Amino acid sequence: MVGGQADVKLVSNAMANATRRKIMAMLVESNRSREEIEKAAGASMLDYHLQMMQQAGLIDQKDGMVTITEFGKNFMQSKTEKPPEVKKDLAGTKPIEITEIMQLLPCIADTTKFRIIARVSPPLGGALKLLEPLFSRARYSEKIGALIIQKGNIMITAYSTGNVTMTMIRSEQEAKDVLDDLRNTINNAIARGITPVPREKVKVDHAEIFQYLPKTDCHICGEQSCYSFAIRLVGSETTLDKCTPLLDAKYATNLEHLKTLQEYL
Ligand code: SF4
Repeated sequence: MVGGQADVKLVSNAMANATRRKIMAMLVESNRSREEIEKAAGASMLDYHLQMMQQAGLIDQKDGMVTITEFGKNFMQSKTEKPPEVKKDLAGTKPIEITEIMQLLPCIADTTKFRIIARVSPPLGGALKLLEPLFSRARYSEKIGALIIQKGNIMITAYSTGNVTMTMIRSEQEAKDVLDDLRNTINNAIARGITPVPREKVKVDHAEIFQYLPKTDCHICGEQSCYSFAIRLVGSETTLDKCTPLLDAKYATNLEHLKTLQEYL
């Protein structure tokens, strides 16, 4: 019986090998014939592997069948890692509703447009990360726990807490339309209950980059103009941080847009 120091050593030796760990993982699911194990784990040194595992008290062999022992089961249970906190699929995630549109403030980047703060309920929490592939331009930020979605000129930031901010919105009606669209896209995925398959991402060109640059042609980045900076950025010949004027608060929204676009260069 396994239990003493020597036995503990036998178990650690038996489990210190990837093939033997693979066999144990198979046996946790169900008992297997030797043939099945050979197919999955390979014939090389199979006798030796099985012998080591048997000596450690993890398995038994009889009439061509390999079975996991009670000790083996308990051992594997104690080694099973806790499931990660992020959900693997959307099953169990509740559909969302837009509960309120709280604020309409002038946009910093363009005062003719608005910045919206809204709320969805229930909050999507960890499921939000899984929704990234639903959108052709989106990235999930671990740092802020939010999905940042670029939709034309509009940037939507959906937080796992349920808050949603949107920039460059023309009217309250547009805010409602964009939020409805967001809710429908998310709820369709939730109704299917599975992690969406990654969408083909839309490519970004220099004209799109250019529209978010300060357009002052100040040369700080070392380029002749903002337009040539955009071309070089698309060609990976320069980096966004070279345009330091973008750090000015008035370009905060532009910078967010550029960072999202950069993901698709
Ligand atoms: S530093 Fe920025 S604003 Fe100035 S020229 Fe370069 S891209 Fe344009």
